[in-house]
Amino acid sequence: MKLMSCPECESEILERLGTVCPKCGYTVGYFNETNKRPKYAKFFALSVFLPFISFLTIILTSINTISFIFGIVIFAVFAYKSCPYFYRNLFITNFEKVFFWLVWILVNSLLITMIYNVLNKLQLI
Ligand SMILES: [Zn+2]
Repeated sequence: MKLMSCPECESEILERLGTVCPKCGYTVGYFNETNKRPKYAKFFALSVFLPFISFLTIILTSINTISFIFGIVIFAVFAYKSCPYFYRNLFITNFEKVFFWLVWILVNSLLITMIYNVLNKLQLI
């Protein structure tokens, strides 16, 4: 078990989520610091909805070359926006960090494969 120092009273407490500091009652979690909650919620929403919107965009824009280039641009912007790199200070545990990176990499490789297939179909490559 990893230890961390309590942000309120600096005594040693477990790093695990939900740990309550025996001295001051601080709870380890996402929702202690006021600015973390909206940011985490935003990141979570982005990592769920953006790939989904990208997926629909790729399907809808695959009818012709010009619209598809537009679709690829949207995909690239969304992939960038939902990159866990910009949210790295939100992650408390390594598991979370690895989990979100894996999800991001997996989802975006699937979308890139889709883009590749459409490009093939449109005979652009
Ligand atoms: Zn404490």
